[in-house]
Amino acid sequence: MDPQSLQAILGQAQAFFASKGLRFTKQREALVTLIFRNDEHFKPEDLLPKLGKSHAVSRATVYRTIALLVESGMLREISLGGGERLYDPNFLQSPHHNHLICVDCRKIIEFEDPNIDVMQNCITRRLGFSPTQKALRIEGSCDRLRLLGTCPNFKEGKKKSIPGTKRRV
Ligand SMILES: [Zn+2]
Ligand SMILES: [Zn+2]
Repeated sequence: MDPQSLQAILGQAQAFFASKGLRFTKQREALVTLIFRNDEHFKPEDLLPKLGKSHAVSRATVYRTIALLVESGMLREISLGGGERLYDPNFLQSPHHNHLICVDCRKIIEFEDPNIDVMQNCITRRLGFSPTQKALRIEGSCDRLRLLGTCPNFKEGKKKSIPGTKRRV
């Protein structure tokens, strides 16, 4: 993400925190920067080691800040089932993208397709809705593991491990 967009995001986060009567502390600023600097899907636990010692951000602050960013609409939650959740910082720049989730290796691929937009618009109009959020989610098995029997994302006995890899098509 370019510095200008990041500044805009920091401003947006700051305004939201202010609207809730909360201070935009150095810790929160460091967190928001980390989350939006790269647009990878992430788990809250992924963030702590990346923050380094300088900001001394507590676990509670990480979870609370993420919850607030979700509430503000800046961050989206993706449920992987079994209570497992990922967070997606990419909705601001690309609000209508969809997700393909591999149930074996938990790889997530983002995709957009104009035909899906047309279809979604037709359906919502026919049913008398104005969509405020559109996202299609498809779960399946990726070809790599199915055809080759191996996949760099798949760790035997660690089915729940979620890689940081993401591909957009
Ligand atoms: Zn996404
Ligand atoms: Zn897979």
